[in-house]
Amino acid sequence: MSETLANLYSETRQFPPPEALAADANVKASAYDEAAADRLAFWEQQARRLTWAQEWDEVLDWSNPPFAKWFVGGKLNIAYNCVDRHVEAGHGDKVAIHWEGEPGDTRTITYADLLTSVSQAANALTDLGVTAGDRVAIYLPMIPEAAVAMLACARIGALHSVVFGGFSVDALATRIQDADCKLVITADGGYRRGKPSALKPTVDEAVAQCPSIENVLVVRRTGEDVAWGEKDLWWHETVEQAATEHQAQPFDAEHPLFILYTSGTTGKPKGILHTTGGYLTQVSYTHHAVFDLKPETDVYWCTADVGWVTGHSYIVYGPLSNGATQVMYEGTPDTPHKGRFWEVVDKYKVSILYTAPTLIRTMMKWGDDIPAKYDLSSLRVLGSVGEPINPEAWMWYRENVGRERAPIVDTWWQTETGGIMISPLPGVTAAKPGSAMTALPGITADVVDDDAKSVPDGGGGFLVLRDPWPSMLRTIWGDDQRFKGTYWSRFGAGAGAGDAVTASSGKDWVYFAGDGAKKDDDGSLWLLGRVDDVMLVSGHNISTTEVESALVSHPSVAEAAVVGATDPTTGQAIVAFTIPRGNVDTAGDAGEDLIKELRNHVAKKLGPIAKPRQIMLVPELPKTRSGKIMRRLLKDVAEHRSLGDVTTLQDSAVMDLISTGMQSAKSED
Ligand code: ATP
Ligand code: MG
Repeated sequence: MSETLANLYSETRQFPPPEALAADANVKASAYDEAAADRLAFWEQQARRLTWAQEWDEVLDWSNPPFAKWFVGGKLNIAYNCVDRHVEAGHGDKVAIHWEGEPGDTRTITYADLLTSVSQAANALTDLGVTAGDRVAIYLPMIPEAAVAMLACARIGALHSVVFGGFSVDALATRIQDADCKLVITADGGYRRGKPSALKPTVDEAVAQCPSIENVLVVRRTGEDVAWGEKDLWWHETVEQAATEHQAQPFDAEHPLFILYTSGTTGKPKGILHTTGGYLTQVSYTHHAVFDLKPETDVYWCTADVGWVTGHSYIVYGPLSNGATQVMYEGTPDTPHKGRFWEVVDKYKVSILYTAPTLIRTMMKWGDDIPAKYDLSSLRVLGSVGEPINPEAWMWYRENVGRERAPIVDTWWQTETGGIMISPLPGVTAAKPGSAMTALPGITADVVDDDAKSVPDGGGGFLVLRDPWPSMLRTIWGDDQRFKGTYWSRFGAGAGAGDAVTASSGKDWVYFAGDGAKKDDDGSLWLLGRVDDVMLVSGHNISTTEVESALVSHPSVAEAAVVGATDPTTGQAIVAFTIPRGNVDTAGDAGEDLIKELRNHVAKKLGPIAKPRQIMLVPELPKTRSGKIMRRLLKDVAEHRSLGDVTTLQDSAVMDLISTGMQSAKSED
């Protein structure tokens, strides 16, 4: 039988939830049964966690797939749910945000403060002529005004389009143009790696190409000099002078909330559109369930940037709708020193930490002695998102950060899904290092073969979502055809028709967004990276993730990226780029010996078919600005091509380092 995607890696470790956490968990095993018995009733129950101005008539309208409507006829205000209702419930003095600037300056923002700021911003935006349905671009560093600006837009029904503060003039301008934004909210700059990093000049250049922009609202953060034009207004002279009372109006459950462009790891960015009621229902519920948040006692910290979907769903909307106290940090993890993250955890007694595998592997590279210096005993739940987490990185996180007490939730989801879809529940699931385990209650995930048939346990294939979910994207902004073609045309009712998808009778619609996965012998799900990255070696489809995880399972390796390079005998051959851990000697023969050892290690772990043809020891890997490995560029290097588009790269000097190393390395075998 021909495999769709090989299943080579096997993992036997498993960690049940701590007893005390399980006993007191927000969500218990019964949630799976309740959701399975009646999925829509289950989501309806989760929607009731929010405050609605008007109840819905129908939970889900799926009569015009793939365009879903959730909580049809319901009305609510998102900002009211994230701010006002907590103040009304008597929690005005509770800290919403402990903000830590990179230079060490701090701000403490209570829910009452947040209500004042969001109301002022809503009034100021209204005065500037922004009304429901208008689009507002937000291009800010990680300062509290980012959350305030987003909530103010939501409060008046304007759509925000947050653009990551590290993006270029072009990236900002094309996003503003695509959504016809009316206003940009930005800052003079922010602090990055110990110094002010300007934002306003980028905005000025972009706005010169964007006639739709009527005003630019500028937060003063660094105090550096900025050029000033006719459209420019200071935040402190407008927002901070505005009236502090604002009456939030309810909006339809399907009123658009935001556009967020996918990071562009692959192709032209897509403006993913999310709406109001279903989105908030799912992000609020998943934040409560997956992180087991106890708003009275927990201090939550998500290290993502608000420019990514993780920042939208799990810094702004999820935690605030649940009345959380959270930490928000402006800067980089190694400024002024490599222990900064742990210092912040220690200082604020963070109890729930949500971060990315790239950071965990970087910390592994820096060494165990760094987290060991800090008191991390407050941590009780750890999360991971963004890429598959290699089992050894998971173990490192568990041992060095969670100190073998805190359960880890590896959460799979996408910009398109809006909220977490596949994850352990910390009080229920006995998690396996490297596995996202199972779909959350109310979510239907499956792994299928080329013919859309569910693969048996032990098999690999394509990860699909079978039923609509509340926080699903509603379309790609301005391009319904691309929405259908991108996500709904591979399997199920929309299959085969490309962009001109129409429903063929009798089949269900199946969502596919490009990831490979496998089911282990217990049916737990393992994400295997993008299907575009899968390598075809001597007729076997091998996932990059499995080979990378095998490399990272060697004690000398901190991080690895693997690509399939054209090979005359095997079709493609495995080429690996590997970062050694901090304490490993790789000079001269020691490096050669390590490479030999690593090739054999992979062959032993996964079988001879997965033995890399070549391994390079490198100091860094090319990553996107959200920290994901860019294998496309490594493939260019491995196949001795000139580099493709490097504009989304975090640090372009990395590629020079790697290319130079590659030319001097001799191919093995
Ligand atoms: P683009 O779609 O523009 O290429 P992107 O897919 O990197 O960008 P996101 O929506 O932020 O942008 O990331 C979602 C993707 O990240 C998923 O499709 C998956 O490939 C990967 N991912 C996220 N979380 C996990 C996880 N826990 N395990 C494995 N992969 C994950
Ligand atoms: Mg994607």
